[in-house]
Amino acid sequence: MHGHRACIGLSALLIAACSSPDPVRPVAPVRPVAVEQSTSAQVTQGSPEQPQHAEQSAATEPPAAPKPPPPKPLPTPPTSEPMVAIRLAALPLAQPVVLKPSGKVRIFGDGGGISAAWTTEGTLTVRLLPDGWKVSRSGGGAAPSERVFARGPLLIEPLTKAGDIRWNDRDWPGEMRLHATEEGIDLVMSVGMESYLPGVIAKELYPSWTPAAYRAQAIAARSYATVESDRWEGRRHYDMVAGQLSQAWIGATDNAKANDAVRQTRGQVLVESGSVVPAYYSSACGGRPANAFGTVTDNPHHDIPSVSTGDGAARKDGCCGSSSAASWKVVIPVSAIVTRLRAWGAANGRSDLAKLDGLARVEAADRNAAGRPVAMRLRPTRGADLQIQAEDFRRAINAAGDAKTSIKSCDCEVVIQGANATITGRGFGHGVGMCQHGAEAMGRAGRDERAILGRYYPKASIVRAWK
Ligand SMILES: [Zn+2]
Repeated sequence: MHGHRACIGLSALLIAACSSPDPVRPVAPVRPVAVEQSTSAQVTQGSPEQPQHAEQSAATEPPAAPKPPPPKPLPTPPTSEPMVAIRLAALPLAQPVVLKPSGKVRIFGDGGGISAAWTTEGTLTVRLLPDGWKVSRSGGGAAPSERVFARGPLLIEPLTKAGDIRWNDRDWPGEMRLHATEEGIDLVMSVGMESYLPGVIAKELYPSWTPAAYRAQAIAARSYATVESDRWEGRRHYDMVAGQLSQAWIGATDNAKANDAVRQTRGQVLVESGSVVPAYYSSACGGRPANAFGTVTDNPHHDIPSVSTGDGAARKDGCCGSSSAASWKVVIPVSAIVTRLRAWGAANGRSDLAKLDGLARVEAADRNAAGRPVAMRLRPTRGADLQIQAEDFRRAINAAGDAKTSIKSCDCEVVIQGANATITGRGFGHGVGMCQHGAEAMGRAGRDERAILGRYYPKASIVRAWK
C-alpha cells in the first residue's frame, strides 16, 4: 500500500552533509542515554512542566501493540522526501466514517482503476457493507448522491493544493485510505514527511519552549519516522500510529513555532555510520537515561550509543533536574500491584507472574551504566523470587489505566509497608535518547539544535538528506 512512497534507502549519497554536531562528551561513567520512542499521544494540557509527550498519560495507552517484524538493518538516508503512512484510528466495522474534505477529492478503490473514480466534494459518509464501501455525499452545493466501491482499500485524494480532510474535529493532510481489516476499519493518511512533522512536534512540546528545542525535536522526529517508514514498508499498510506507540500527531497545525522548525530543518536527519538513527526520545530522563535496546526495541540494529548526562548532582541538574518530573511519589495498594502483575503475566506468557503469590519486596535486580534499573526482582510472600524487565514493570503497573496509581518511569524505589507500597522515582517516560526537558533546558541556556542533538546522540551527525 505504499504506491506513492518515494524510493528510500537506495543511495548512500547525501546531499549537502552538514558538519557533525557538537557533542557533549560523556564525563566519568558512561551513561547510556537513550531515546524514546515517542509514544506520546495524550497530553496533559494543564501541566506546564510536562511536554506533551506520549508517555504523559500512561493511563490511556492505545490497545494492542502491533507485533514488530524481524530485525532489519537501519536505512541509508532517503534521497528524496519520503511518504509516511500514519494510522489515525482503528474503528469498529459498523461505524460510519464522516469526512469533510477542504475541497474537491477523487475517490477510488485501490486496484479498481481510475475509471471507477468519483470526483466530488461536500460531507462524505463512508460505510463498510458486506460487498464494499458505500460513500454518501451531502452538502457542497450539489444534490445528495452515493457510490459503491469494491471492498479493497478505499482511497480519498484531495485535488486542491494542500488540501486536507477533516475527521474527528481535525484537519489531516495527505491522501486518506480506509482499509477493512478483520477487526475493523483502519483510517490511514499517506502524507509527505515534511507535511507530517509540524503536527508531531506541535503536540510533543509546550508552546512556550525555545525554537532550538523545536528544531532538535523536528530532526529527531524526522529521523525516527524515516526509520519506521523503512522498517514497515511492504509489511504493513501503515508505518506509524498517531499516538503513544509511535509519535503523537494532530494533523495540520497553524503552530508557527512548529512549522518554522520543520521548514528550517527540512530534510535533516541524524546519521551514524551511513545509516539513519532511530532517534527515540522521551519526556524526562530523570538524570539516568536508558539504553534503547531492551527498553523500546529488541532489534539490535535499533540500539543507540550511550550518552552521558554528567555526573552526580550535575547530572540531574544539568539535564531535566528543574522539571516537575524530576522526582515524584505515588502510593499504591500492594494488592493492586499484585493484581496488575498477574494480569500482565497472563497476557504476556509469564505463567510464573500470573501466579504471583503476594508481594513482600521489589528492588532493582540489574542497572545500566547510568544507574537506571534494567530489571526488577520481585519477592513473593511465598515462593521463589521472580524477575521482570524494568520497563515491563512500569507497563504492568500502568496497564490498569488509573493515572493516580501509575508510575512515571521505571527508575524508582518501592517500599512496602503493610498494605501499601510507596514508590518514589525520577523522570517521565522510558528515558531513551533525547530528553525533551533536558533539550529545553539547553535551549534556554542558548544552545542550538546541533548542541542539543550532539549531547543526546553523540555519535550522530546532522545530514540534509533531501531538499
Ligand atoms: Zn533528562
